Amino acid sequence: MPLTIGVLALQGDVREHVRTLTDLGVGATTVRRASELEAVDAIVLPGGESTTMAKLLRTFELLDPLRKRIQGGMPAFGTCAGMILLADHVRDGAEGQETVGGLDVTVRRNAFGRQVDSFETDLPVTGIDAPVHAVFIRAPWVEEVGPGVEVLAEAAGHPVAVRQGHLLATSFHPEVGGDGRVHELFVDLVR
Ligand code: GLN
Repeated sequence: MPLTIGVLALQGDVREHVRTLTDLGVGATTVRRASELEAVDAIVLPGGESTTMAKLLRTFELLDPLRKRIQGGMPAFGTCAGMILLADHVRDGAEGQETVGGLDVTVRRNAFGRQVDSFETDLPVTGIDAPVHAVFIRAPWVEEVGPGVEVLAEAAGHPVAVRQGHLLATSFHPEVGGDGRVHELFVDLVR
């Protein structure tokens, strides 16, 4: 059976993820309802605004189904706001900000913002041959990692790409840089 990877399509840079996956020859589809979530093999949580996405996940009654599927082993890849959604703990979150969770990390929201809002850099990433062109936009970084979490890349002395079993997360936006190699890493993990 060919793979179908869903892209959570409540808010954020959904199209960029769908395009990157499609360019890799992977079936990609948008997910807005629980029935659509059931039909995918894996999910991408895009960049955007984590507080808005968390609220919409509640409104669309997707938060609990998504939590259950991730706990059940469905692979997930979060970029930027998506990384925040996957994190078990958030610092500098909005009042009462919920996450999907599953990834045993503490992230700080808008962490680079205090130094520089947005920047691009070529970043060495474990498992990828040559550095990845990484676009950071009001990005979080990771402040604490649990024992099962592998750090794949760092910037400013903090993890910005992590993997824990079936979960992958980056502070930056590989869907924006026109470089499909981080998505390829995710697709390999799904397979
Ligand atoms: N700062 C945003 C948040 O907290 C994330 C920014 C992004 O995804 N580019 O959700």
